[in-house]
Amino acid sequence: MTQSDETPDHGPVRTCLGCRRRAAKRELLRMTAGLDEHGRQVVVPDPEATAPGRGAHLHPTTECYDLAVRRKAFGRALKLGEGPSSAPVGEYVAAAGTFDPPDQESEH
Ligand SMILES: [Zn+2]
Repeated sequence: MTQSDETPDHGPVRTCLGCRRRAAKRELLRMTAGLDEHGRQVVVPDPEATAPGRGAHLHPTTECYDLAVRRKAFGRALKLGEGPSSAPVGEYVAAAGTFDPPDQESEH
């Protein structure tokens, strides 16, 4: 484990890949390595934080996403080498920014 900077008083803290600020883990979107339909490595959002393996964290905002893209932080953080696509994460934060959760179930 390299991420052992948890403080019992405030819960787990992680560093945002975009703005590099530390924030409570619950405020950040977890991301992991995944595969797209062509079998290429991509960065995918893991909002439930259930995916096994190495994860990286980001404020779920387009600002922090853009910063992380510009500094190619995803590949480094997830050990994917340079230039993995992070489009799924981009789509996720863009959707999250609209405050219109697409997975909201309508019950009758
Ligand atoms: Zn951030």
